[in-house]
Amino acid sequence: MSEQVSVDSKKTGHPLDYLLRKDRIPHIWCPGCGIGTAFSSCLTAIQDSGIDLSKVVMVSGIGCSGRAAGYINTDSFHTTHGRAIPFATGLKTANPELNIIVFSGDGDLFAIGGNHFIHAARRNVDITVVCVNNFNYGMTGGQAAATTPHMAKTTTTPRGNPESPFNLPLLAIASGATYVARWTTLHTREFTNSVEEALLKPGFSFIEVLSPCPINYGRRNKQKPLDTLKMYQEKSIIKNGASPFELDIDLEKSIVLGKFVDVDRKTHTEQYDKICRPDNVQS
Ligand code: SF4
Repeated sequence: MSEQVSVDSKKTGHPLDYLLRKDRIPHIWCPGCGIGTAFSSCLTAIQDSGIDLSKVVMVSGIGCSGRAAGYINTDSFHTTHGRAIPFATGLKTANPELNIIVFSGDGDLFAIGGNHFIHAARRNVDITVVCVNNFNYGMTGGQAAATTPHMAKTTTTPRGNPESPFNLPLLAIASGATYVARWTTLHTREFTNSVEEALLKPGFSFIEVLSPCPINYGRRNKQKPLDTLKMYQEKSIIKNGASPFELDIDLEKSIVLGKFVDVDRKTHTEQYDKICRPDNVQS
C-alpha cells in the first residue's frame, strides 16, 4: 500500500485528504455529476469502519465511476471492462484477509460484467459491490444501458427506451447476495452507513446508489443536476425490508430506497477453505 497513507495526514486539510492520491486530482468528473459524492461517501465509510487501510483494496472497471480506483490512496486496481468482480474474487480467494470494495458503474457491472455479478453473489464472495447507477453509459457518450428506464432518451434511444431496466436489488437477492441496499446521492448519510455496514459484514454485499449524470443522461431528458436531486427527494420512499418485487425503477412512480436484505450464510472463502484448503482450517 502507498506509504503516503498515514494518520498524521488526517490533521491537515480536508479530513479525507489522506485517502486521496492528490497527485491525480483534479478528477475527471463533470460539474453536477454524482460520482464524487458516492466516492467520498465510500471514503468516509472506509474511515469510519476502522478497517486497517493496508488491507483495503478498491477495484473498479471501465467508465466514469471506474476512475475512482485511481484516486483512492490504498491498494487499488482499475481493471478491464466488466471484469472488476472476477478480479476482486481472485484477490479475495488468494488473500482472504483483504477487505475489497468494488466501485463501478451500471454499464460496467450489469451489462458487460452482468454474468460475473450473478455468479459472485451465488458464491457469496466476501466483497462489497457499490454500483453507481446513472441510467446510461456516461463515458462513451450517453448510450442506453441495461439500467436505462423505460422511455428515457439516450443517444441510442432518441425516441425513448422501448426496453425495461433491470431491477438491480431483485437481481442481487435472487442471485444470493447477503446484504442488499439502495440509496441515492442525496441520501449520503444512509448510503455511507450502508457501505460501512457492508464492509464489516462477511459475504457478498451489494449497494446501488442512484446518481445524476447531467452531461449525458440529464441533458437528453431535460434534467439539470438539481432537477435530478429534486426528483430523488420527491419520488423516494424509504422502505427497509421492502419486497424485491417492489423495487423496479419507474420514474413516473416512486423510487423505493432502503436496506432490503441482511442475512448470513457461509462465504465462498469459508467453503473454499473447508473443501480445497483443509490444512488451513482451524479445527
Ligand atoms: S459523463 Fe455523466 S457520469 Fe460521466 S462524469 Fe460526466 S456527468 Fe458524470
